[in-house]
Amino acid sequence: MADTKTEKVKVTDRTGDWNRFLKKHYKAELGEIAREYPYRRSLIIDFQKLEKWGKKGLEISDELLKNPGKVVGDVRDAIKNFNLIFTKDEEEKAENVNIRFIHLPRKIDVRDIRAHHINTFLSVEGIIRKTTEVRPRLTYAVFRCLNCGELTPAYKQGYGKFQEPYRNCTQCERQTKMELVPQLSKFLDVQKLRIQESPEGLRGGEQPETLDVDITDDLVANAAPGDRVVINGILRSIQRVTQGNKSSLFDIYLEANSIEIGEKEFEEVAISEEDEEEILQLSSDPEIYEKFGKSIAPSIYGNSEVKEAITLILFGGIMKELPDGSHLRGDIHMLLVGDPGIAKSQMLRYVIRLSPRGIYTSGKSSTSAGLTATAVKDEFGDGRWTLEAGALVLADMGIAAVDEMDKMTRDDRSSLHEAMEQQTISIAKAGITATLRSRCALLGAANPKMGRFDEYAPIAEQINMPPSLLSRFDLIFVMRDKPNDSLDRAIGEHILKSHEVGELIEHIKKNPIEGIDDNYIDQKLSPVTPEIDPLIFRKYIAYSKRNCFPLLSAEAKEKLVAYYLSLRNLAADNSKPVPVTARQLEAMVRLAEASARIRLSPQVEESDAERVIKIVDRCLRDVAYD
Ligand code: ADP
Ligand code: MG
Repeated sequence: MADTKTEKVKVTDRTGDWNRFLKKHYKAELGEIAREYPYRRSLIIDFQKLEKWGKKGLEISDELLKNPGKVVGDVRDAIKNFNLIFTKDEEEKAENVNIRFIHLPRKIDVRDIRAHHINTFLSVEGIIRKTTEVRPRLTYAVFRCLNCGELTPAYKQGYGKFQEPYRNCTQCERQTKMELVPQLSKFLDVQKLRIQESPEGLRGGEQPETLDVDITDDLVANAAPGDRVVINGILRSIQRVTQGNKSSLFDIYLEANSIEIGEKEFEEVAISEEDEEEILQLSSDPEIYEKFGKSIAPSIYGNSEVKEAITLILFGGIMKELPDGSHLRGDIHMLLVGDPGIAKSQMLRYVIRLSPRGIYTSGKSSTSAGLTATAVKDEFGDGRWTLEAGALVLADMGIAAVDEMDKMTRDDRSSLHEAMEQQTISIAKAGITATLRSRCALLGAANPKMGRFDEYAPIAEQINMPPSLLSRFDLIFVMRDKPNDSLDRAIGEHILKSHEVGELIEHIKKNPIEGIDDNYIDQKLSPVTPEIDPLIFRKYIAYSKRNCFPLLSAEAKEKLVAYYLSLRNLAADNSKPVPVTARQLEAMVRLAEASARIRLSPQVEESDAERVIKIVDRCLRDVAYD
């Protein structure tokens, strides 16, 4: 590496190169900006095009990463010097054109950002967690002398602190008061965001890290909390101030240069050709349902029906857009209610590890945003209102596992209705109105109000949730902890086995034994290792969701409708705590589609309908008609 001294001297003039590059690749865009200015005032340059522009292109793209400020200046100089957009006397307009770069080949994780990245150009991927209101920031201030009325030249304003003129008035040469003249000053729209790492990048249960981002001008108000984005920009540092004293500690933020908003398939689990082969082979295995069931939380004994249902929600049904613009959700919502200590929480945690996009949270959530979203006025926004996404928004296109749902706040409870059915969350508060998306499956767990479940009381009375909310779950499982000798023994042994296995693995890791390798351990410990490896399970789910959109066969339709009618008849003669409504039929269709997706079938068969009816029947027996 060259030392800094020689690097400083070697600042090359690139305006000629930029002139040629822009003329070759961005003629049309430059023309559009010239015609549509000021409505269009950003030139968006594809980094990959630049990299492919021969040897010079490689040099410049490399320079951009290390010295972004200079490169942006070079491009602007090229635009000015060669009159690429505006004529000679329109220099001020050229000054206002934003030079933005997109499609950087390498992205960095928030958690890997270090001091040496400061002032370099980075590309960071994540989900938007918070956004503030858009407000103007003063960039150039013009003042008027209160004594003689003379105007000052425009003072450039720094970040944060308001800069007042420090000289005397040039006209009357007196030290007088000066006032800001807003009409002659210049403002810029600014907004602050906070992004956090996307859940699929996290290794089992890690807390996501966050990064604050400053966006300006035409970038503002284009992205909302919950959006998956790639933000390209310059990493800046800002000195901390504690009790008025400057600290040697600095905070970092990203000064955004461009934002790429992710599409649906954005950063899904990568599936190689070998993976695909393995997936297709698995899909024709006649025991695929049992195998998936056994691969969910193998350390938890029994509960095979719950595990089968969880398999279904991992795959999900198919979202339908209706001609009238409304949409029918494909995501399946499921609730586990039951006595404490029967592995509900454990089950939830495990599911998150299997879901390509999963978020675990508790109803008595630690974050202020709760389950849906909130608008608050806090220090993050420096006095501006801030919109923050909750768990269901962050889990968009994935699964939100919400433990202790009975303990959620009143606000959450009321916004959950919309979030579960329409899969949107509307916020209208102060200067913020927004509709966020929450297209996720909700897997909830709740404990009974009285600590233990009463077999004879209706379920809605026992958990702290209104029937209107309960009816939005496609499946509700009641898990009871009834003492039962043989079952208790089996669970006991299973738990001990898991403990032994854990101890054994630890021991072998510390004291390697010849001939005992990972393979051997896997075989010996089969009762608590999943049948299907979680890695390939995740890939299988992603593959199926991407490629498999089964249609209902006539036989399956017939079965489901007949069962639905029998439920309606049952419900008609007595008032049940959870009424049987058309929602139940929709739920069964979703579940049957998920069942077909498990074997990658293009059609929902009679067997899928039967499987679903069995599960729904088990749930309704507990909830609606015991
Ligand atoms: P809950 O959330 O239902 O109150 P937890 O998930 O916290 O219960 O479970 C309590 C503990 O009991 C966990 O360590 C769990 O592994 C264990 N446990 C309960 N039921 C089983 C079971 N059927 N098989 C294995 N472990 C179990
Ligand atoms: Mg629990």
